[in-house]
Amino acid sequence: MSSKIPELLAPAGSLEKLKVAVLYGADALYLGGQQFGLRTAADNFTQRELVEGCEFAHARGVKVYVVVNAFLHDQELAELPPYVKFLEQVGVDALIVADLGVLKVVRSHSGLPVHLSTQASVINSYGAKFWQRAGVTRVILGREVSIAHAGEIRRATGIPVEIFIHGSMCSSYSGNCVISNFTQGRDSNRGGCAHSCRFEYSYSDQDGAVIDSSSPYFLSSKDLNGLSLLPQVVEANIDSIKIEGRMKGHHYAGVVTKAYASLLAHYQKIGQWDQNILQQQTEELSRVINRDYTSGNLLHPAQGDSIYQQRENRPLEYQMVGIVHQVVKDDFILVEVKSAFELGDRLELIPFAGEAQEFELSWIRDLAGGQVVRTRPSTMVRIPYLPAAQTFNLLRGRCAEVVCN
Ligand code: SF4
Repeated sequence: MSSKIPELLAPAGSLEKLKVAVLYGADALYLGGQQFGLRTAADNFTQRELVEGCEFAHARGVKVYVVVNAFLHDQELAELPPYVKFLEQVGVDALIVADLGVLKVVRSHSGLPVHLSTQASVINSYGAKFWQRAGVTRVILGREVSIAHAGEIRRATGIPVEIFIHGSMCSSYSGNCVISNFTQGRDSNRGGCAHSCRFEYSYSDQDGAVIDSSSPYFLSSKDLNGLSLLPQVVEANIDSIKIEGRMKGHHYAGVVTKAYASLLAHYQKIGQWDQNILQQQTEELSRVINRDYTSGNLLHPAQGDSIYQQRENRPLEYQMVGIVHQVVKDDFILVEVKSAFELGDRLELIPFAGEAQEFELSWIRDLAGGQVVRTRPSTMVRIPYLPAAQTFNLLRGRCAEVVCN
C-alpha cells in the first residue's frame, strides 16, 4: 500500500471515557485540563486524572494531546508556563494551541510538540507554512477544507495535517464565531460557546418586523460523518482524523471510535475496504446521539441539505445503561449502572471488536448478593456472566425496553 493509515484521534471527556475510547480502538486522544481549554462545561481532567490517563493510554501505545486552545489575555499567559511544564513532566505527547501568544509561551517553556487547533482556521498551504515556521508540528485544518484539499496542503507543505471526520459541526469558521458573545454574553473563543447556532431564528427587517420564520434553525448544521469516505482519506495521505465530542457520553465515545477503528483495522490487515463492516458500522453510527448526518465539506462545499431543520437531536434508539467493571469467569459481571434497567430486560453488550451481543437479564444481584428487580443509576450490580465481556465494555438497551433520556 502506498498510503498510510491515518491516526484515529478520539475525544476524552473524562478519565473513564478516555479508557473507553482507548479500548474501543483510538490511536490517540485529546482532552482538556482544568485551564486554558474551550470546553468549560466538560468534566475537564484534574492533574491526578491527567497522570492516570496518560499512564493508561501510554501503556497501550495510545498518544495523549492536551488542548490549550483558548485565546488568552496577557495576565492569563503569565499563568501558563507552570501548567505547560507540568504537562511536559506528565509526558503528554503534544499540546493543541490556537493563539500565537500561547504558542510562543509553550515553545519558550517546553519542548513539547504543538498542534495548531482548528480554531486558527487554516484552510490553505500558505497559512499552514506560516504556522510551520512559527513552530507547530501539525495543523488541524479548518472544517471548510475538503479531504482532497487537505491532501494537497499536506503535499505542498510537508506538514502533517489532521481533519475532522465525525461529530458536531460549527456553522461559522472555528475561532471566528461570536454569536454566543452577542446573544448570551458568553465568549465562544474562550470556552463559553452556548451553541447559539442551534437556537431558533427568523429573518427580520431593520425595524424588527419578521420577514420569514419558515426555517428557524437555518444556522444549525447536521453532524459530520466521514466513515464511508475513509478510502479518500487514506488516498489523500491524511495524517490524523479527529472525532469531535468531548462533551458527549460513553456510548458515543465507544461506538464512534469502534466504527472508524474497525474499518481502518480491517483495511490495514487485508488492504481492502470491507463493505460489510462499513454497513454494520454505519448502522452503529445511527444508534448514537446525532442530528442526522452530512459529509459536510469533506467532498464538496456543504449545501442547504447540510442544515438540520430541528431543535432536538434525533430520537434515541438505544440508551447506554452500564459499564463493565469486572468479569468473573463463569460466574458474574460487575456493572456500574449508568441508567436504570430491570430483571427480564434484553440488553446488548458492545464488545471491543465484532457485533453487539444481545442477552436477557435472568437475574440481577446487589453487592451483598440480594436480588434486584430494578437497578438505580450510580450503583454497582452483578449480572450473569457473558464469555465475550471485558472490563470497560458498554451495555445498552433499546429504548422500547429501558428508559431513554
Ligand atoms: S455557536 Fe455554533 S457555530 Fe458558533 S462556535 Fe458555537 S457551535 Fe460553533
